[in-house]
Amino acid sequence: MQNFFNLSAQTQAAADTALETCAPQFANIAAITRYNQQKMLRAFIDHGVSEACLGSTTGYGYGDRGRETLEKICADVFGAQDSLIRHNFTCGTHTLTVALFGILRPGDTMLCVTGRPYDTLIGVLGIDHPVDGSLCSFGINYEQVDLLPNGNADLNEIKRRLQNKSYKMVYIQRSRGYSLRPTLTIEKIEAICKTVRAVDAKPVIMVDNCYGEFTEKKEPCAVGADLIAGSLIKNPGGAIAPSGGYIAGRADLVEKCAYRLTAPGVGREVGATLGLNREMFMGFYNAPHVTGEALKTAVFAAALFAQMGFAVTPRFDEARGDIIQSVCLENSARLIAFCKGIQAGAPVDAFVTPEPWDMPGYDSKVIMAAGAFTGGSSIELSADAPLRAPYAVWMQGGMHFDSAMVGVCLAAENIASL
Ligand SMILES: *Cc1c(COP(=O)(O)O)cnc(C)c1O
Repeated sequence: MQNFFNLSAQTQAAADTALETCAPQFANIAAITRYNQQKMLRAFIDHGVSEACLGSTTGYGYGDRGRETLEKICADVFGAQDSLIRHNFTCGTHTLTVALFGILRPGDTMLCVTGRPYDTLIGVLGIDHPVDGSLCSFGINYEQVDLLPNGNADLNEIKRRLQNKSYKMVYIQRSRGYSLRPTLTIEKIEAICKTVRAVDAKPVIMVDNCYGEFTEKKEPCAVGADLIAGSLIKNPGGAIAPSGGYIAGRADLVEKCAYRLTAPGVGREVGATLGLNREMFMGFYNAPHVTGEALKTAVFAAALFAQMGFAVTPRFDEARGDIIQSVCLENSARLIAFCKGIQAGAPVDAFVTPEPWDMPGYDSKVIMAAGAFTGGSSIELSADAPLRAPYAVWMQGGMHFDSAMVGVCLAAENIASL
């Protein structure tokens, strides 16, 4: 890094030590990446991807060969029967919303078994205060099983609830969101699915898979989930898809979601791709590799900031089920210094100074560092921190570990020199 960046000898030495520390974890990530990247190649070959798939449609988009082929690939790679993968899902929240409204009907109850859901879902569910058009306003009930103090799902309580009532959906959030609970690994998701199925075969098991894709060899549909959804400006877009989301799972459920995405009776048959097929194919193809780069960046940051004496979750050597790294920085000055460092190491907008702001959908001020090719992309190196105790920053992404590590080191240096 000394060739191009003016880091102190101290930061450089700390980075070298952190790199050495992480070698076994990097080898493990390389094995996961290789497995998932080869699984992806297999699916591309099996579905006969050709140059014609990279073409475009306008208007209704009937018979778009690229769109239809990519949906088959996406289903295969996620171990699902069917999928929707579309640029016109506007964000992760929208994609999850389409899935929830696609499946749930008035009078149904959904049971979230991983504690309070991600901030932007609160309005969708309508659980804190009335929100017009929320699930609650349509007469869909919400219940929650909190996580145990150690962050694991409360399997006994899940079993008890299911024995006493019939639920339409059991909802699992894989990633931590803005909380310090551990991310659910695939093994833990499997244990939840088995617990549910031991009591009741009926509930749809849905997983918010945001940030989890390609971090392990299996995906939730392979261990009992019926439906998963996520955002293409996170892992599965490979930092190339310019927008969008995906839903994958059981064919009958994916069809219901397609009816909600477009119109009942019309479903998946429409959706012009407007010239985006090439980026959608390239992005999805690259996703396992890029996710590996993001994982290495997270592991490196965990090692570096732990060396500096900060509490990090997960630790560099803990099992990971997503690309998120949080670091408890204990005060807002350090949070701001961290985000400024990440921003200064970005390929786009490195000269910009991030400031805390009232972001729609969040209940406290948030500071974000993002210097990305795609607006708001968090598979590119980025950091978010709500300005509230315990002053933790959540960092994620990094298209290339070799350059993302610079942002992490600039953040460390900013904090060391406060
Ligand atoms: C990112 C994310 C979402 C969706 O957020 P968007 O900003 O709308 O893309 C939902 N759940 C979790 C756990 C997430 O990390």
